[in-house]
Amino acid sequence: MIKDDCIFCKLANGIFDTNTVYEDENFRVILDIAPAAKGHCLVLPKKHFENALVADEDTLGKGMILAAKIGKKVKEAYGCDGINIVQNNGEAAGQTVFHLHIHVIPRYNDDTVKFEYDSLELKDEDFKEALTKLK
Ligand code: 5GP
Ligand code: ZN
Repeated sequence: MIKDDCIFCKLANGIFDTNTVYEDENFRVILDIAPAAKGHCLVLPKKHFENALVADEDTLGKGMILAAKIGKKVKEAYGCDGINIVQNNGEAAGQTVFHLHIHVIPRYNDDTVKFEYDSLELKDEDFKEALTKLK
C-alpha cells in the first residue's frame, strides 16, 4: 500500500507534513511545491500506484471526480479563466514523481503556461493503422 522510498506516499499519508487543502479516507490534495500558477494542486491517492496505467479503477474514478471538484473550488477562489486537469504517465510523458497524481492548474487567458506539441500531418493509411492497432 505504502512504498517506503516514495515521497508522495509519505505526503499523502501524513508521514511528512505538507500544505493540505483537502483530505479524506483515500486521498490528500496538496499544493504543488513548484507550481505553474498560484493554487496549483496535486490530487494524491493514499495508496501507492506508480501511475494511472497500473492504478485500480476505483482510485482512478474517485481521483478524477475529486480533481474536478478541486478544479471548481480553485476556479472560484482564484477567478481564473480555465483549469487544466493533467496527469503524466512515464518519464517520456513528463512524469517526475512515480506515485499517481493529478495536477489541477489554474489557467488565465494571458498566462504563459505551455502544454504544446506540433501536430503531425497523417495520411489515411496512418489513421487506418491506428484503428488496426487500437480497436
Ligand atoms: P509530474 O512531473 O510527476 O507530473 O509532477 C510532479 C509534481 O510534483 C511537480 O509539479 C513538482 O513540483 C511536485 N513535487 C515534487 N516534489 C514535491 C514535494 O515534495 N512536495 C510537493 N508539494 N510537490 C512536489
Ligand atoms: Zn507512493
